[in-house]
Amino acid sequence: MKPFLLIVEDEASIATLLEYNFQKEGYEVGLATDGEEALLLTSERVPDIILLDWMLPKLSGIEVCRRLRHREATRATPIIMLTARGDETDKIQGLDYGADDYMVKPFSTPELLARVRALLRRTQPSLLEDTIRLGDIEINAKTFRVKRGQADIHLGPTEYRLLDHFMRSPAQVFSREQLLDAIWGRDVYVEARTVDVHIGRLRKALKKNGGQDPIRTVRSAGYAFETPS
Ligand code: CA
Repeated sequence: MKPFLLIVEDEASIATLLEYNFQKEGYEVGLATDGEEALLLTSERVPDIILLDWMLPKLSGIEVCRRLRHREATRATPIIMLTARGDETDKIQGLDYGADDYMVKPFSTPELLARVRALLRRTQPSLLEDTIRLGDIEINAKTFRVKRGQADIHLGPTEYRLLDHFMRSPAQVFSREQLLDAIWGRDVYVEARTVDVHIGRLRKALKKNGGQDPIRTVRSAGYAFETPS
């Protein structure tokens, strides 16, 4: 069963970016563009987790949060507040409005994905798929263990994140730039050939016991994970 995430955000560009990234990570995503719509949608179906913008038309994020906390069905629903950079941050820290966490815009998408995952793991651990298995390769997102057949594969943290990223979208070709954004984040400057170095290490580790290379180099495009047979 996919976790159901509700995004409450009136800025279309941010909403679209979040929707795309969470769907890609296996979430079912609902979208509300103002505070009243958020209350309506949550009364129809209780989300597993809510991303709630602070500045919203009709009802502010704070007010939505307060009202959700007064309803039996959403009293304990995890809520992450999204705020704009500025003096709001002091206010949000001082207010007891009932959110579980908050992030200041512009935020890094990998970090937000990680926070959502961490919050869900704490509140609804059964919702998260911990194991991904493709061919004879298996990764466990809870223990960070990687196995090929019966053998443990030892990876560095960057190689692990690369493999995790590939295995969530098998056969999809990723450019070096896309991999840089996904693994290192948009704010970090890393040269494109760094990607090649880590792909090289990942390949070496995966082939250690004689298995075929599951990572395909796509000329002038990037890399893709092919499920080993
Ligand atoms: Ca807003």
